[in-house]
Amino acid sequence: MASTESSAPQQAPPPPLSRYESQKRRDWNTFCQYLKNHSPPVSLSHCNFNHVLDFLRYLDQFGKTKVHLHACIFFGHPSPPAPCACPLRQAWGSLDALIGRLRAAYEEHGGSPDTNPFGGGAIRLYLREVKDCQSKARGIPYKKKKKKKQQHHLQLRKTQIKGNTTADATDAIAKPFKDFGQFTS
Ligand SMILES: [Zn+2]
Repeated sequence: MASTESSAPQQAPPPPLSRYESQKRRDWNTFCQYLKNHSPPVSLSHCNFNHVLDFLRYLDQFGKTKVHLHACIFFGHPSPPAPCACPLRQAWGSLDALIGRLRAAYEEHGGSPDTNPFGGGAIRLYLREVKDCQSKARGIPYKKKKKKKQQHHLQLRKTQIKGNTTADATDAIAKPFKDFGQFTS
């Protein structure tokens, strides 16, 4: 009188995806959805770097990083003492990480590295511009500056800022893309 259930094959559940893998899968689905909703819809084989750039600009509306405009009194201020009306954007670090994941996903889905729209020079250029722009607007140096003779307290300050930058970048990657699911309706 064995129940039929007992004869069901006991399959081990698939191992859970790593944080990176599940994020990559979500990003890829979001991008494919974006192409599908594009008017006219764009197939993956016709997707080029312009669509990728449009996608990145489209994501800015979901950003959580304050990027001060030139006219703002807090332009270049790393920790403004008061709120301002400047727009929120996707942090450069988030976009950079996103492009890395999508570039990998594209090739995992059969795309050729030669035509990978995420790997082109235009994307690298765009990311560099975003990085420079956000670095200036937020008063956060993302890259090492040329060595100069500096007073001791200036060097100390630089070290502190550098520490903040690292924390900020990590935080930025973790946070903004949690909300990706919300706009795929
Ligand atoms: Zn501002």
